Amino acid sequence: MLGEIKVKIKITNGRFFLECGDENSAVVENCLSRLIGISGWARTVICPKTQEAVFSASVEEARKLANNGVKTFKIRARRTDKAFPLDSYGLCCKAGEAVLTSVSGLKVDIHNPQDIINIEIREKAYVYSGGNKGLGGLPVGCAGRGLLLLSGGIDSPVAGFLMACRGMSVDAIHFHAYPYTSLEAKQKVIRLAEITGAFCMGIRLYVLNFTQVQQRIKERAPNEWATVILRMAMMSSAEKAALKIKCNCLITGESLSQVASQTIENLRCTESLIKLPVLRPLIGMDKETIIKKAKKLGTFEVSILPYADCCTLFSPAHPILHGEPESARAIYESLELEPLIDDALNGYEIFSANQYEKK
Ligand code: ATP
Ligand code: MG
Repeated sequence: MLGEIKVKIKITNGRFFLECGDENSAVVENCLSRLIGISGWARTVICPKTQEAVFSASVEEARKLANNGVKTFKIRARRTDKAFPLDSYGLCCKAGEAVLTSVSGLKVDIHNPQDIINIEIREKAYVYSGGNKGLGGLPVGCAGRGLLLLSGGIDSPVAGFLMACRGMSVDAIHFHAYPYTSLEAKQKVIRLAEITGAFCMGIRLYVLNFTQVQQRIKERAPNEWATVILRMAMMSSAEKAALKIKCNCLITGESLSQVASQTIENLRCTESLIKLPVLRPLIGMDKETIIKKAKKLGTFEVSILPYADCCTLFSPAHPILHGEPESARAIYESLELEPLIDDALNGYEIFSANQYEKK
């Protein structure tokens, strides 16, 4: 994530230490705010392992807090170096005393302090306060790889992000219907992949032209079935792509009963042709919760740009609500979509961060 920036990284028990010059600290902190798998981070002062140095650093830290209007604090100490003359409790008491005698306007509140001054005695002594909450979750890459069906909507980027938070590496596939859909619509999906990818070590986006498939569905499928059949074709294509690029599952932004194609019966139809597991991390969330998450992720403002997606252009006015998988499969097979799907799969474009290749 740091790219060209030079940072010394040291890993010890329960802590990563990143040493960087002041000129890089803003970039480093920006990366940390997007790093899935850490519970938090803080800037720390490093000082010699003597009581005087530790207390004077604690006093400095307390002054900063007082200047920022903090009124109550406590000291939290950890000591992995047992050779240090004070134990954790002793450190807390003595450092607290030092702060109270040197900084006016601060009071100790053990149970509900406005801020905490942390002292850690390890191979060096570290003193810090404040700190930032990290994203939590599991590091991306430790839980296999999934292929996200990424539309231009609000839901699917959030779905990809949530799976990345469980440690999954994410690739994405998008189906467009140029010239029925605009180039801006495609650009918007690339942007969504970039924003989401900034949290998951990059997302490789495969873009397929589904115009032929959609036209065939429009011409030959019963109108009320069009969206469900299109979803089946998307799932089937995504599965083929996933198997080629070694993804273990598909990920979608579907949420139960959000729209007609996402009733439980229609979801059953949608996945009836494929064998790979379909992960739907938003299945039990309402739209408001999803929107909040999209705003936090930074995709919401892009998702609401008004370029029509391929699905909206071809959606029927009165879609089927409770499709039967048997009927769905019979209709699907009668459409002879496989050669059109294979054409789409053979002519994909790949976008990966800012790079662009065309096959
Ligand atoms: P979103 O669900 O992301 O807000 P949407 O509302 O346009 O987008 P839905 O109709 O809810 O899409 O589609 C359900 C799911 O199907 C999406 O979350 C996405 O995973 C997948 N999907 C829909 N359209 C496309 C597409 N053009 N390309 C890839 N996947 C798609
Ligand atoms: Mg949706």
